[in-house]
Amino acid sequence: MLQQVNVGHKSLRDYATLATRGLMEQIRELAEPLAGKRVLHLSATAFGGGVAEINYTLVPLMSDAGLETEWRIIHGEDEFFEVTKTIHNALQGSPQGLSEEQEETFRRYNELNAGRLEGEYDFIIVHDPQPAAVREHFADSDTRWIWRCHIDLSTPNEDVLGFLLPSLARYDATVFHRREYVPQAEELPMAAIWPPAIDPLAPKNMALSAEDASYIVDQFGIDVTRPLITQVSRFDPWKDPLGVIDAYRLVKETHPEVQLALVGSMAHDDPEGWDFYNQTVSYAGGDPDVYILSNLNNIGAVEVNAFQVHSAAVLQKSIREGFGLTVSEALWKARPTVGGRVGGIVDQVEDGVTGWLVDSATECGEDCIRILSDPGTAREMALRGKEHVRRNFLTPRLLRDWLVLFNRLLGNDTAGAEIATVAARV
Ligand code: UDP
Repeated sequence: MLQQVNVGHKSLRDYATLATRGLMEQIRELAEPLAGKRVLHLSATAFGGGVAEINYTLVPLMSDAGLETEWRIIHGEDEFFEVTKTIHNALQGSPQGLSEEQEETFRRYNELNAGRLEGEYDFIIVHDPQPAAVREHFADSDTRWIWRCHIDLSTPNEDVLGFLLPSLARYDATVFHRREYVPQAEELPMAAIWPPAIDPLAPKNMALSAEDASYIVDQFGIDVTRPLITQVSRFDPWKDPLGVIDAYRLVKETHPEVQLALVGSMAHDDPEGWDFYNQTVSYAGGDPDVYILSNLNNIGAVEVNAFQVHSAAVLQKSIREGFGLTVSEALWKARPTVGGRVGGIVDQVEDGVTGWLVDSATECGEDCIRILSDPGTAREMALRGKEHVRRNFLTPRLLRDWLVLFNRLLGNDTAGAEIATVAARV
């Protein structure tokens, strides 16, 4: 049996006042014909990164909507996760491909996990590439298989994408954050397009007073009387923590009191993380105003919340980014936000209106200086960003989109509740 993740309980009712008008009613209507349907979410890890973050909310809310929903984790050792990290990097554009041996490792672990997948389901949602080939080990049946891609597929390494395509072709549907991520391959099934979402009621995003936030960050050694810039990210080259340090150094020239926090957890399926963590620490060069923190320092969801709430500016200076939940998290807290002009970040930040989009460390530093020099204007922009997040990137909308897709795959009428889709084979 694959290990099941205990997600606890959440109630849709609690979200009623946060969701836009009519949305909760739509969710009720869409859920009715799906009552009792069995849904499995399959992913590589229950800890670290966006997929885990999303599932801890989506899974209990799907259950509360009346579907029997569970989340299970595939089994993998380092040798497998080294291969899947190479796949992840290649799909985001890295030229490094897979050796035959690596392909064999990938297939072997997928077969092993398929053998451990028991039970009957109406829908199986496979998250990201790690378990994508599990599908190949099951014959066609009434079960609908959906591949949910969370990464930036706009400029993939074609060899590695080609390696995965035969597996992806076996699905009934795929889901991508953005239209430009959908691979141009005619063997692929229908692709639905919708962005992920954040949970406004989770400990990561629930209302936290400025006093409580500074009380928490103070315990990590931050001087709460001086401005703080924060980036919350896994230690991953695509998140560009070294570029963030460069930007901070530029800010330091005019605002010597500034401090920087790089808050990053170590994901279980990311063996590269430690190397890059060490590189980041050495790049910071022992600067006492740079705080590099992780789950090893007891950083959990509430602490991330506190760092975001307390920061004068929140950065997500990514070079590639599937979506970047941290951007919505920061805007939801009405914090001035600077993001790399890549992937899903551009859907969340309107440059110069709700935040800042940057193409370099220098631009990032300059925008931070603007924020520190005129916090009033920066705050007004962030409040506009918060409204954008409220309308587009909160969990009830994500749940609605899933329910629309389930209904469509069953041939049910979904008139009035559309989702964007790209060419279908089905
Ligand atoms: N996160 C966290 N602690 C960390 C680093 C990241 O809780 O030290 C969370 C972060 O708040 C966000 C998620 O992990 O909710 C990262 O999602 P995102 O889409 O930004 O990036 P991904 O890791 O999926 O590439």
